[in-house]
Amino acid sequence: MKSGDRNIVFTGIQPSGIIHIGNYVGAIRGLRELIEKHTSYCCIVDYHAMTVPYDVSEFSNHILDAATVNLACGIDPDKAVLYVQSDVPQHTELQWLLSCLTPLGLASRMAQFKEKSRRQKESVCIGLLTYPILQAADILLYKANLVPVGQDQVQHIEFSRDLARAFNQRYGDCFPEPEAILGETPKILGTDGNDKMSKSLNNYIAVTESKEEIWKKLRPAKTDEARKRKNDPGEPTRCNIFTIHRAFSRSETNEDIISHCRAGTIGCIDCKRRLLESMVEELTPIRERYLALRKSPKQVEEILATGASTAREVAMETMEQARELVGIRPIPRQR
Ligand code: SF4
Repeated sequence: MKSGDRNIVFTGIQPSGIIHIGNYVGAIRGLRELIEKHTSYCCIVDYHAMTVPYDVSEFSNHILDAATVNLACGIDPDKAVLYVQSDVPQHTELQWLLSCLTPLGLASRMAQFKEKSRRQKESVCIGLLTYPILQAADILLYKANLVPVGQDQVQHIEFSRDLARAFNQRYGDCFPEPEAILGETPKILGTDGNDKMSKSLNNYIAVTESKEEIWKKLRPAKTDEARKRKNDPGEPTRCNIFTIHRAFSRSETNEDIISHCRAGTIGCIDCKRRLLESMVEELTPIRERYLALRKSPKQVEEILATGASTAREVAMETMEQARELVGIRPIPRQR
């Protein structure tokens, strides 16, 4: 724990294969600040990723890539514990203890489960129902009290609080009740300007893309529909390009864009060119670090092994306490 610090942060990183600028702006930047101040666990949640269909042959590459991109984005392994969920078996062990406390009705009321089960119908798996219990175990295992999440995950953090409280009431004090930390950055939509940026909708810009690749996606991206001709006045607050400007450009640039867009004195292509320069300024060092790390996967594996070993020590300590409280035998010596 960092000296003078009483906060413990837990964050789950999905090994989805792509980290786009929406993830970077909405989560990674904030996490970079949090790990400077607090004891932090950054966990690549491979078990969670198994609750939906996935490509087995690419899975371990995606896990390694998620670690590589996060390191390239500035998640410093000397300041945060970076590891893979399945390398710490205590996550699923605690999940079982918590499952035995979870009313079925409570788990099935989670909005994400209801939405995904509506879409997947018969093929929906039990893992999707118990996903928030594993998420609660992830957090409580490290006695984390702060969890940076998006709005769509707030209900799951409340669920984790419920489970921490239920455990403490039934067996005795063990877990703090975690709180969600919501980012203040505006939500970046996909390049289609309609939906959330996502890999599955192919409307994303990855943080590791080259200037040319970014421009190829930015150039045709949707802007304010009121601007039919170059000199039509526009409204930046209706334009996703401006939302991305706010995430990457300096305030003077943004003010300039607002006044010229409203006056119809800047074309959207010029506006996007200025955005491209701002993005490239921030993303180029990330891309360079990423490409360098890709050449030495062993280094990334070593970071993950060190992280898993640190995480396991803390997890084992928590489980010893939890096992004793629920009345089962101490953890056997060799695991
Ligand atoms: Fe959007 Fe810029 Fe075009 Fe205005 S000038 S509509 S902010 S892209």
